[in-house]
Amino acid sequence: MSLHRGADEGRDARPLSVNPFFGEANPVGGMTGAPPKHRLPKDPLPPSTAYQLVHDELMLDGNSRLNLATFVTTWMEPQAGVLMAECRDKNMIDKDEYPRTAELERRCVAMLADLWNAPDPAAAVGCSTTGSSEACMLAGMALKRRWTLRNADRYPSREARPNLVMGVNVQVCWEKFCAFWEVEARQVPMEGDRYHLSPEAAAALCDENTIGVVTVMGSTFDGSYEPVADVCAALDALQERTGLDIPVHVDGASGAMVAPFLDEDLVWDFRLPRVASINTSGHKYGLVYPGVGWALWRTPAELPQELVFRVNYLGGDMPTFALNFSRPGAQVVAQYYTFLRLGRAGYRAVQQAARDVARGLAGRIGDLGDFRLLTRGDELPVFAFTTADDVRAYDVFDVARRLRERGWLVPAYTFPAHREDLAVLRVVCRNGFSADLAGLFLEDLGRLLPELRQQPGPLGGATGFHH
Ligand SMILES: *Cc1c(COP(=O)(O)O)cnc(C)c1O
Repeated sequence: MSLHRGADEGRDARPLSVNPFFGEANPVGGMTGAPPKHRLPKDPLPPSTAYQLVHDELMLDGNSRLNLATFVTTWMEPQAGVLMAECRDKNMIDKDEYPRTAELERRCVAMLADLWNAPDPAAAVGCSTTGSSEACMLAGMALKRRWTLRNADRYPSREARPNLVMGVNVQVCWEKFCAFWEVEARQVPMEGDRYHLSPEAAAALCDENTIGVVTVMGSTFDGSYEPVADVCAALDALQERTGLDIPVHVDGASGAMVAPFLDEDLVWDFRLPRVASINTSGHKYGLVYPGVGWALWRTPAELPQELVFRVNYLGGDMPTFALNFSRPGAQVVAQYYTFLRLGRAGYRAVQQAARDVARGLAGRIGDLGDFRLLTRGDELPVFAFTTADDVRAYDVFDVARRLRERGWLVPAYTFPAHREDLAVLRVVCRNGFSADLAGLFLEDLGRLLPELRQQPGPLGGATGFHH
């Protein structure tokens, strides 16, 4: 969430404006009863008036289907919507009151343990979360606690400050984890055409205070998979040399729901003994509306028991690992519905369609001649591209701004250390962004180019990075 300020009446002191049509129906305030914007109104409004006011204000939000910035699901079947509506009053924490919802959550964990090749799916443990960010916090906490247990004789002390090794391309949740839980973030910078973690650089940053290495299946910056198996091999070699046994967490926010279906031969999951835990966002390529993620650990040994809480004040006594207490059950139910509905073949078909769109669109953008592709949509169905070296009249920020005029939201952003010189556009292809829509997008982009080429130079003005 943005960190919002309170009332700023100087900036916008006007009350909400009520159409006389609604005002007439307002028994309390009559035609003049305009509610204030920044304070709780004194009196109630009729539901129809309140609804219309909120509805009208939201008309100016973008069209989520044209948002090529987000990884998050923007289309589900009507049946999923019905189930979610049926479950919106169910509180996920209340396992005793809603035992069947709890059971569906358990089945989802079991399905993911199987999908991610846990050596003993019955031994794997996991939970639902609000998204990958919470899942990553939980996984990071488990790594940190395991390290503090192993280092109880020296921690806390000045010499023993825990660190976590990762690429500089990690999603912001890992920087949050390190800031919130006081862990040093050791980030491997980008180098030349390498835009994510390298196994050698990761191993080189590890020492006796390293709680783990994070590898990302599907880099936020360009959609590329990090070489999880090679990172594990480099850490195996490190262990042989030094005795240091460093666990790996795979941040599979997107890729953990893509690779199992499209890249079955790629070994990145619990088949690698060094992989202790994996997370994914159910609301990204898990194909559920926002509000669900998953965290799994190989066995209970990877999840220190003192992090798991039992409470009896809702009745029952179910162990939970979560940052939140109350949480909606609807998204978990929708995840189970989608697993049941699609199965492996269905997920494969949906993700393959997204990858086909991404590859096709990337190829055609490459063919325009104005752009250079960094990735081609053949790992995550996501690709990043920048302007070709000989393009001087405009930059990626101009392209993003002009595409917005046609309703397309495509983020433009600069890369992190050591490639701050590189600015790119990124397109996320997800279920619902059809080949037809991609065709329309390409037409719109093609129509802009002649005008952009006429510019005297880039107009300046970076937009923020939208994850
Ligand atoms: C999106 C993303 C996250 C954060 O996930 P949320 O579900 O949005 O909280 C973390 N890591 C990666 C690699 C991501 O792509």
